Amino acid sequence: ADGKKRRQRVLAFTDAMRGRATRRLTLERDLRHAIEAGEFVLHYQPKFHAGTQRLLGAEALLRWQHGDTLVPPSEFIPVLEETGLIVPVGRWVAHHALETALRWRALHHPSIRIAVNLSARELRSADFVEAYTAILGPHAGDQPIDIEVTESLLMDDVDHSTHLLDSLRELGCRVAIDDFGTGYSSLNYLARLPADEIKIDQSFIALLAHSPETMGLVTNIITLAHSLSLQVVAEGVEEEEQAKLLRLLRCDAVQGFLFGKPMSAKDFGARFFN
Ligand code: C2E
Ligand code: MG
Ligand code: MG
Ligand code: MG
Repeated sequence: ADGKKRRQRVLAFTDAMRGRATRRLTLERDLRHAIEAGEFVLHYQPKFHAGTQRLLGAEALLRWQHGDTLVPPSEFIPVLEETGLIVPVGRWVAHHALETALRWRALHHPSIRIAVNLSARELRSADFVEAYTAILGPHAGDQPIDIEVTESLLMDDVDHSTHLLDSLRELGCRVAIDDFGTGYSSLNYLARLPADEIKIDQSFIALLAHSPETMGLVTNIITLAHSLSLQVVAEGVEEEEQAKLLRLLRCDAVQGFLFGKPMSAKDFGARFFN
């Protein structure tokens, strides 16, 4: 009887695995289809000067319009990364964000910038620099595009990553270090960052008004960044109190639900360009 029970357990287990594998294959197939079907869309989250609250730019955030649902990146970016599909999708993002930025510059806001997120897989693709040169090249000089990379992506292979990001900066892009503080950057490495800007992770901003330790940490990050001529952006600002503290600390720019959630290009235009 014991053997029978065990066998039933094993069967239930393999059933569950098969279910998961099938769902995963379906997701992969749907994502492949999504590119050709034009189901990816970009939403834009505004970014403001902390002191004057002037609109500086936007971060492009990928969404998947799958039937009636707008799927958030946490549910499909990992699959795009594992399958390598992130490479063509990322290029679509860069191309589309550039078009939007140039249109907004021409029609509404001559200095607006749009930031795109870059994953490790894209940076490691063999023709990374060529591809970005092709996308941005015709506009070499002052690019309206910022590239966001995480610390962990840089730490993977600091020298090679630095070299690639410097190539992007030569093309005229700005580079921002996303989710700053969640990796394990040493101070001596901060001085060598191939970056123009750091974005303090939202987990620090969430604690800012309640934890003196976090307040001290953020104060030091901002001072150090400024001494290295890096701009500082705070991510995930949700409360007026946080915004007030960040202004006191001379943080350069702010982004967060307090100021605006990610929205379609149409909604962004309606809200900011009227
Ligand atoms: P991220 O680049 O750090 O983007 C910030 C995330 O925080 C966004 O989530 C945004 O909606 C959210 N957020 C902004 N302000 C607030 C706030 O005040 N409170 C809270 N709770 N959240 C806030 P989203 O759009 O779900 O994106 C998640 C992550 O997916 C991004 O993190 C980025 O790593 C990745 N991602 C998004 N689009 C792309 C893309 O085109 N390419 C790549 N490679 N990754 C992307
Ligand atoms: Mg980002
Ligand atoms: Mg972030
Ligand atoms: Mg993040």
